[in-house]
Amino acid sequence: MIRFEQVSKVYPDGTTAVDGLSFEVAEGELVTLVGPSGCGKTTTMMMVNRLIEPTSGRILVDGEDIAGIDPVRLRRRIGYVIQQVGLFPHRTILDNTATVPSLIGWKRGRARERAAELLDLVGLDPKTYGSRYPAQLSGGQRQRVGVARALAADPPVLLMDEPFGAVDPVVRERLQNEFLSLQAAVRKTVLMVTHDIEEAVRMGDRIAVYGDGRIEQFDKPATVLGTP
Ligand code: ADP
Ligand code: ADP
Repeated sequence: MIRFEQVSKVYPDGTTAVDGLSFEVAEGELVTLVGPSGCGKTTTMMMVNRLIEPTSGRILVDGEDIAGIDPVRLRRRIGYVIQQVGLFPHRTILDNTATVPSLIGWKRGRARERAAELLDLVGLDPKTYGSRYPAQLSGGQRQRVGVARALAADPPVLLMDEPFGAVDPVVRERLQNEFLSLQAAVRKTVLMVTHDIEEAVRMGDRIAVYGDGRIEQFDKPATVLGTP
């Protein structure tokens, strides 16, 4: 579903962020990218939705070289969840969740219906929370809205950059478990960046272990941990 072929990224200042990455993520697979800060995880992920362009190599999504896909069209096929979910502060939770469907031309009623379904799916009752504003939610709840919004247009691919990094450990574990149940139902192809090895192990079908611009190991959690 996602395939990297010899992908490198050198930033204009000469920093090599990733160097000759080749790997594949299967349809419906959740791969966690783990490793210390600065080793190229975020760069890897942002090349998939063309927020960053590779210097060399190519990336295929669903067999298609993404260099030939209009970035705006590409991002409709790819959901994106980040640590500081950028919700629009002056829009309600329901409207925030309906943003993407509206942008891609769904009728308002259908977009809002879909948004309510998704809020339900991430454990936020739309009747209670739909009409609130982002500042009236807890950090954990805002992350849930971030996930709902990323899923709104039903993209086959989901990119997550430290999605649960900004909440306390207890909430984080709850969000991780919730996301795993959700993923069991929706089966997205997921790339998820984390610097937390426990999270990588708990969440990943496979783990890409990064070290300085390269993937040093790419395997199932048990193998990465050395427990057969
Ligand atoms: P990670 O997500 O693993 O923390 P990043 O992909 O953010 O790593 O960064 C990889 C390397 O590229 C780091 O050395 C970082 O400083 C560098 N880098 C990231 N973004 C830029 C940029 N816009 N310009 C120059 N260097 C960058
Ligand atoms: P979580 O475990 O999801 O992080 P919290 O324990 O932080 O939740 O919040 C508990 C409850 O308090 C939630 O139902 C949330 O709606 C409410 N709440 C949190 N922050 C605010 C706020 N700024 N305004 C109104 N309600 C809030």
